[in-house]
Amino acid sequence: MHVLVLGGTTEARRLAEAVHGTPGLRLTTSLAGRVASPRLPPGEVRIGGFGGVEGLTGWLRAHHVDALVDATHPFAGTMSFHAARAAEAAGVPLLALRRPGWAPVEGDQWHDAGSLEEAARLLPRLGRRVFLTTGRMGLAAFAALDDLWFLVRSVDAPEAPHPPRMEVLLDRGPFTLDGERDLLRRHRVDVVVTKDSGGAATAPKLTAAREAGLPVVVVRRPPAPEGVPEVPGPEEAARWITDRLGHDGG
Ligand code: NAP
Repeated sequence: MHVLVLGGTTEARRLAEAVHGTPGLRLTTSLAGRVASPRLPPGEVRIGGFGGVEGLTGWLRAHHVDALVDATHPFAGTMSFHAARAAEAAGVPLLALRRPGWAPVEGDQWHDAGSLEEAARLLPRLGRRVFLTTGRMGLAAFAALDDLWFLVRSVDAPEAPHPPRMEVLLDRGPFTLDGERDLLRRHRVDVVVTKDSGGAATAPKLTAAREAGLPVVVVRRPPAPEGVPEVPGPEEAARWITDRLGHDGG
């Protein structure tokens, strides 16, 4: 049985690790190719876009894919819709592995934003020294905020357009609470911006902000395709795969 995992997340890698070596299973992970040196999962890996819904449908057929797992980041909205349409066209069962979003707890001062642009509009009345953790793509939304100073944390260096007053911190999670506390203090951050990515690896910044009494602008998730069965973690997705293996007589 050939399973294609649309990856680019810790969960996708954990899934590949969990099922790697299962007799009768061939697993390919697909990465978009955004990160210069990605952490590679075990099993086969292919890198780069498929060329839209048609390209993905063709790939599923040409490589005799029996099941598809959309384990992309919750903000990779386009790919999730492509996966749903291609799976339907090729007649391949699809599972979405989507980590649950974060929920505020007592003491949090969260401000919801529907988009990066809305986050940028909220910022001037919330603070002057911004810890921006939304990734290197989409910095253009903040480029006009020349009064504010930004600490931008990303895996690879951002390109223009970006805010004029910015310091870049190249790093990737998981992050620790002590590290996040130290970062906020050292850079005298007074507001944090994050996507509602969910998961434990990048959650400590939320705790550190709460402890320091800082506001956090939380960018809400884009819509996901309806009618796709969803699981919250790699363990459940691994079970879905091995159950299918049983049914397929593999
Ligand atoms: P997106 O906007 O949903 O997708 C844009 C295009 O990138 C897709 O149409 C597809 O090109 C290609 N693509 C996306 N994911 C792919 C994958 N796993 N394998 C092959 N092609 C892929 O995606 P994005 O937000 O740019 O995210 C790109 C990748 O980074 C994803 O793998 C995602 O899991 C990861 N990631 C994203 C974020 C985020 O905040 N967006 C954060 C962490 C990791 P074609 O149409 O040519 O097939």
